[in-house]
Amino acid sequence: MFENVNKTPLEDIGEFGLIDRIKSSVKIHHNQTLLGIGDDAAVLNPEQKHVVVTTDMLVEGIHFDLRYMPLKFLGYKSVAVNISDILAMNATPFQITCSLAVSNRFSVEAIEELYEGIHRACDAYKVDLVGGDTTSSVTGMVISITAIGLVNPEEWVGRFGAKNGDLICVTGNLGAAYAGLQILEREKKIFLENPGVQPDLDGYDYVVERQLKPEPRADMIRQLHELAIKPSSMIDISDGLASELLHLCKQSACGCRIDAEKIPIDTHTWKVAEDLNLQAITMALYGGEDYELLMTIRQEDFEQARMISDLHVIGYMTDDIGNCHVIDSQNQLHPITASGWDTFRSQSKD
Ligand code: ADP
Ligand code: MG
Repeated sequence: MFENVNKTPLEDIGEFGLIDRIKSSVKIHHNQTLLGIGDDAAVLNPEQKHVVVTTDMLVEGIHFDLRYMPLKFLGYKSVAVNISDILAMNATPFQITCSLAVSNRFSVEAIEELYEGIHRACDAYKVDLVGGDTTSSVTGMVISITAIGLVNPEEWVGRFGAKNGDLICVTGNLGAAYAGLQILEREKKIFLENPGVQPDLDGYDYVVERQLKPEPRADMIRQLHELAIKPSSMIDISDGLASELLHLCKQSACGCRIDAEKIPIDTHTWKVAEDLNLQAITMALYGGEDYELLMTIRQEDFEQARMISDLHVIGYMTDDIGNCHVIDSQNQLHPITASGWDTFRSQSKD
């Protein structure tokens, strides 16, 4: 998918030329961004709030594969995953910086495509690109994005505040991003074996989009805020529900019990599970990259939380430290383990 013919080599415009181009395509959304790209550092005005900072680094060949990840989507996703981390602290994202290492395998046009995706995410989530760094690499591409958010001092939420009896909730649906990845991997394999064959993603648009273009749940954080619900603990689902639940339980010194039948799974995900002979529930538990939110709320907030249509109660926290279980439709208890990935493999029928 990645072509470099008839494109402008990066050497033609150099590092400063590239930064100028990036700078001229930036749109600033917030007055509190006092100074953005073009000086030695950016200047921000946090206005009495707490500042929340997060960084994610994405390495070609480890975190992304440009054979099926178009650069525009990669740009969007790199921003989205950082925004998701800010939201998971119950904070609002305001600025990002973006650092890039690229080899001369990439053209100016390719980098501009990457930035088109970055700008698109910045517009969608109203964040300002205020700086970064540009350097060369030997072969692949590395993108490191830092996001900065703000939160009222009493409102930030960590992974550690859950208590016995708190309700475990997830937003949206789970397993779809993993389903999308399986479809993309299948098409890549077919393409590598028969280079003339075009990818057939018909009917799989939803899951593929969930993999390529995750949408962090800023809408959920807004609704929680409007209903004056402060979760007792929260985390975004990047590595899979099971792994994130274990983080909340460990850091909150709790155990948990969730109900397999209550885990929200989209019909498109069920369809992929059927087509590829996988278990949808296992994809939802261990798949990852959905960038939904997992949170615990106090029981007294339940009536209010029911007003949020895309928030689903899937279980509750217990005081049985370290005992984390999922109960299936036959009332069987299964321990939730960190080695979910292997469980997933052994349960898949391929
Ligand atoms: P310095 O040498 O002081 O680090 P640079 O020449 O690296 O400055 O950067 C100049 C300006 O451009 C700074 O504001 C920096 O934050 C910004 N910048 C550099 N690379 C990028 C990038 N890839 N994306 C966004 N901004 C960038
Ligand atoms: Mg620099």
